[in-house]
Amino acid sequence: MIPVKRRPRVAVIGAGVVGLPVAVMLTQNKFRPNVTLIAAEFSPNITSDTAGASLRITGNKTSSKDPRQEKWTRATYHYFFNLFTSPMAKTLGMSLTTMYQVFDGYRDHPWWKNLVLGFRDVADDEKKIVNIRQDLNAWCFSTLIFPCGPYLEWQLKQFEANGGTVIQKKLNSLKEIDGEYDVIVNCTGLGSKELVGDHGMYPVRGQVIVLKAPWVKHSFGVEVADDVTYIYPREGEVLIGGTAQFGNSSKEIDPIDRSGIMSRCTSYVPSFAQTEVVDEWVGIRPGRKVVRLEIEDLSADTAVVHNYGHTGQGLVYSIGCARDSIQLIEEYFERKKNLKYDNAKL
Ligand SMILES: Cc1cc2nc3c(=O)[nH]c(=O)nc-3n(C[C@H](O)[C@H](O)[C@H](O)COP(=O)(O)OP(=O)(O)OC[C@H]3O[C@@H](n4cnc5c(N)ncnc54)[C@H](O)[C@@H]3O)c2cc1C
Repeated sequence: MIPVKRRPRVAVIGAGVVGLPVAVMLTQNKFRPNVTLIAAEFSPNITSDTAGASLRITGNKTSSKDPRQEKWTRATYHYFFNLFTSPMAKTLGMSLTTMYQVFDGYRDHPWWKNLVLGFRDVADDEKKIVNIRQDLNAWCFSTLIFPCGPYLEWQLKQFEANGGTVIQKKLNSLKEIDGEYDVIVNCTGLGSKELVGDHGMYPVRGQVIVLKAPWVKHSFGVEVADDVTYIYPREGEVLIGGTAQFGNSSKEIDPIDRSGIMSRCTSYVPSFAQTEVVDEWVGIRPGRKVVRLEIEDLSADTAVVHNYGHTGQGLVYSIGCARDSIQLIEEYFERKKNLKYDNAKL
């Protein structure tokens, strides 16, 4: 029970692309909660730093199926396109890029065709020019790509500037902080496997290479057979990938994966054969069949909102999931309304 004459207390666990927007939105919330962000690790040491990161809706094995995904994606796109048209685009290293999404077989136009810019089918003549095999199909559109690091840093700064408290700590159980907060928002990604004993979580290993190829301005997302192949030009570099190895959590660079990535990507951009590798890394996606976004009671006085398991689409769903999390928290506070929060400053 939340006593009269104090502001509600909320803890967000996890400082990735999923947790940070929830934390920032809470600091701006009408219930004026005291917000604490708790995380074992912060940027640049988390999975979110390793993402591509593109606003691309994949139809490959790293994407899950949930009817709410469309709403989440729409919210995220609008949010980032607004940022892109603001002065923040420079700080965040955002760029609008032409993307070829390549696939085998026939696909109906996707629901998101009007969310991206200039969506169209790619004709055979154009396929030839951009090195797409004639037996494959492709769509072309423009979308945003940006590295997650500056975005995470900006979100954390906003959180602190809005009065949020930051604690670096690994939790072994949510019970450790039961009673300290009215609501706990669990945005721990793969960490949820241990933290809340979710055995539906699994690692999905992704290896990428960063090339010095400033002349490459267009991107690819290739969904052919089981391969996960992408080419994402970012500020001054091109990130190419990838792998999606289920159940594999090794962070070691695998030379076989490296040569597979190089050879698949070079078939689309032959000049990659003459580029310098400037970096490479492995990120471990928080795999789950569907995102877990729901509220449950931890005890009589503490509720937990779970928001984790975004697999390969954590950035793409992030803002929509943050808004749904906030809605669950507000509904919880409304239910407790008879306890009359006092929003006066403590
Ligand atoms: C190579 C690669 C490319 C990708 N490309 C894209 C892309 O282009 N677009 C896209 O949308 N997604 C992409 N993804 C997926 C995306 O990176 C993830 O879905 C996303 O980062 C998940 O974010 P998160 O905040 O849930 O997890 P994380 O970034 O892992 O953050 C989890 C947070 O929880 C904390 N935590 C965990 N356990 C505990 C605990 N017990 N106690 C305290 N804190 C804890 C961690 O320290 C961390 O702060 C890619 C992933 C990879 C690997």
